[in-house]
Amino acid sequence: MRRKLVVGNWKMNGSHAANAELLAGLQAEGPWVGEVAVCAPFPYLAEVALSLQGSPIGWGAQDCSAHESGAYTGEVSAAMLAEFGCRYVIVGHSERRALHHESDQLVADKAKAALAHRLTPIVCVGETLAEREAGQTAAIVKRQMSAVIHTLAHCISQVVVAYEPVWAIGTGKTATPDQAQAVHALLRAQLHAATEHAADMKILYGGSVKADNAATLFAQADIDGGLIGGASLKAGDFAAICRAAL
Ligand code: PEP
Repeated sequence: MRRKLVVGNWKMNGSHAANAELLAGLQAEGPWVGEVAVCAPFPYLAEVALSLQGSPIGWGAQDCSAHESGAYTGEVSAAMLAEFGCRYVIVGHSERRALHHESDQLVADKAKAALAHRLTPIVCVGETLAEREAGQTAAIVKRQMSAVIHTLAHCISQVVVAYEPVWAIGTGKTATPDQAQAVHALLRAQLHAATEHAADMKILYGGSVKADNAATLFAQADIDGGLIGGASLKAGDFAAICRAAL
């Protein structure tokens, strides 16, 4: 039986004051019984870690370098994140694939770097609207997943996968539970071919998840929780989504 996981992706939002208010709001929404985490911008990770000390809410980063160390100005290594207790790191978010031209192989290499430092990579895959309309959804997500499977080999079972249709991210257009389940099922089948632990792996759904659609999405057989953007910036909304996962 897979335990559901709900992860908030704050993206490039926040400030000392806003984070303090959000984190206080999250603590007030407790008790937190499910598996929950928030992924904050790099400069705020230390204060998020401090604020969540002793809390069941985990925390993570939104990206990491594929490199170990060296002349990579502006990058943050998995080793650095691990050094101060980071648990999760999102890799291959569609905004990074699109805006920073991250390739499938780079995303796979980032996942490998994260695992090397015992971080749990949350590997995002998903098709654009044009790709969906061209009937390419399965081919696109399989290709994205396949790079990670080949790079991680037997370690693939240690990643969390997030299916995030690009057309649903931040748009208010959620995939229907059936649309999402269909893609989750094909990703699970692909993972089954790669590892005997596929049934235990978490595949999250992300894309305009809100308190009022979370429960039906999370009720699907292969949806093991959510990656939540906009709604993770309001403590009450995020808590309601997390409760829908219980
Ligand atoms: C995301 O950023 O991963 C995301 C799913 O965003 P939103 O929930 O705002 O669509």
